[in-house]
Amino acid sequence: MAKLIYPISPLYITQGFGVNPQNYSQFGLKAHNGIDVRTKYTDTPDGVRNILSSFKSRFYKQGNEGSGGYGIYFEVLVQLKSLWKLTYAHCKSINNFVEVNADTMMALSDNTGNSTGSHLHLTTKRLNTDSSVKDYSNGYFGAVDPQQFFDELKEFKEGGDDEMITDQTKIPQIIDDSGNPMEVQAIRSQLLDLRKNNKELKEENEKLKQNPGQNFTKPKAVLYNKLAQEEEK
Ligand SMILES: [Zn+2]
Repeated sequence: MAKLIYPISPLYITQGFGVNPQNYSQFGLKAHNGIDVRTKYTDTPDGVRNILSSFKSRFYKQGNEGSGGYGIYFEVLVQLKSLWKLTYAHCKSINNFVEVNADTMMALSDNTGNSTGSHLHLTTKRLNTDSSVKDYSNGYFGAVDPQQFFDELKEFKEGGDDEMITDQTKIPQIIDDSGNPMEVQAIRSQLLDLRKNNKELKEENEKLKQNPGQNFTKPKAVLYNKLAQEEEK
């Protein structure tokens, strides 16, 4: 099984998604809109730790919300089955990059913004093909538990897409200059269809090999049974 790369290694969640509503109503949120990850370890006592990409990630945005919010933060797009926007907050510095492969350092964690101690905050949102946020009015402005992102990543890797698209640089940008991700979406959906068809075909063949009689669709099965009865007579 392909190994999952978490933004901070090791991954230790100090505050989960959807907890402590009392702290987040001031931001118009139902509760905590992401996960907080521990960054203080013996080799990084100040909490300044490498923030790693979990998959091919395209730079989307960066900013500084000052002490009131995310502090120094940045966002990347990741195309899995869904198109994802990941926000990494409370950083120290951000590397200059357009696109990075998995397991690449993108930034350093810290304690900037509305934060009581060094940690990484990660928010994950699914985007529509027009790059608007999916399910925006879910109480979290579209944020979902990052576990959903990592589950989808796991599924995606197990599905063999890593092999199928070994070089994603051949695929046009996720979002072009006019902000339209349609082209890459189309390519991806074609590849996903192809993969699905191949998988279904393979499964069908396996079944056929093991038990040819059971693989008939219903009308054929009826015919088969009839033929079997005829032969018994
Ligand atoms: Zn947080």
